[in-house]
Amino acid sequence: MLDRQPQENILKNKVSMTWDIHRLCNYHCPHCWFDGSWEAAKKDVIYLPPERWKDFWQHLYDHYGEIRVTIVGGEPFFYPGFTEIIKNISNIHRIMISTNGSLISDDFIRDVNPEKITIAISFYAYLASFDKTLATVKKLRKSNFAVGINYLAYPHPLQWNYDKIRLYRKIFKEAGCGWFFIASYWGKYDGRAYPDSYSPEDKAFILEDCLVPQRLAFSLKAESSKGRLCWAGGKYASISAGGRIYRCGTCGVEIGDVHNTPVQLSERPIACPVDDCKCGEYIPA
Ligand code: SF4
Ligand code: SF4
Repeated sequence: MLDRQPQENILKNKVSMTWDIHRLCNYHCPHCWFDGSWEAAKKDVIYLPPERWKDFWQHLYDHYGEIRVTIVGGEPFFYPGFTEIIKNISNIHRIMISTNGSLISDDFIRDVNPEKITIAISFYAYLASFDKTLATVKKLRKSNFAVGINYLAYPHPLQWNYDKIRLYRKIFKEAGCGWFFIASYWGKYDGRAYPDSYSPEDKAFILEDCLVPQRLAFSLKAESSKGRLCWAGGKYASISAGGRIYRCGTCGVEIGDVHNTPVQLSERPIACPVDDCKCGEYIPA
């Protein structure tokens, strides 16, 4: 039971946050954003003990109520004390964990409350065992966790095969996955730049189960976002692995840091300061 309740007026205004928890991983995928730059990526990362994170998230709860928190990395389960961190905060916030799925332990499944946790497993068929990933999905579902699969359209022949992907999608959904999203790959493969090098068939296949709009999936030009009113910084914030808190993942406007909570979220939408909103975190006024 909680001994403190957030202000009622603020509770009505649900907030979402993305928490880029750290920059280490037990995998070293060639498609990773950090491939070739892991050393630089982990430079400013802060590691705080579970108690400190508990206080941080409790302060946010006291001011803004339940927050929808999406945890990304690196590999979140590779963060020291991760099970304890989630155990501490999953009773007050709604958590989605984006993971490669390989480090989800029986302790985690036993110790945390699945009611408010969603596990988004990135399944890389060209690197990871399908049987092992499926077994993890089944175990999580048996304990009532919400689970879904994110599938990267990386053009490696073992990853990008329509028939196999259809089969994976069918089996994962039959095992209780709530979604099977395909994400386009941004980077180089075999000397070709993606997403520009996808064929029209590839693009259509990706869009069948794509999480984001076509413009963001394939980096198509859009009208400038500069000056448009956006709720990022009010109903949304992005926490970096270095502990800084930004309006969103693109604009670079800092609104606080994890050592000085609560972060001051705006009570009104604010004009976007940049031309190109790449992050998909835009919340219209
Ligand atoms: S599992 Fe994710 S974070 Fe880890 S190396 Fe692969 S893409 Fe990067
Ligand atoms: S970059 Fe996008 S999400 Fe960020 S402030 Fe501008 S419109 Fe909003």
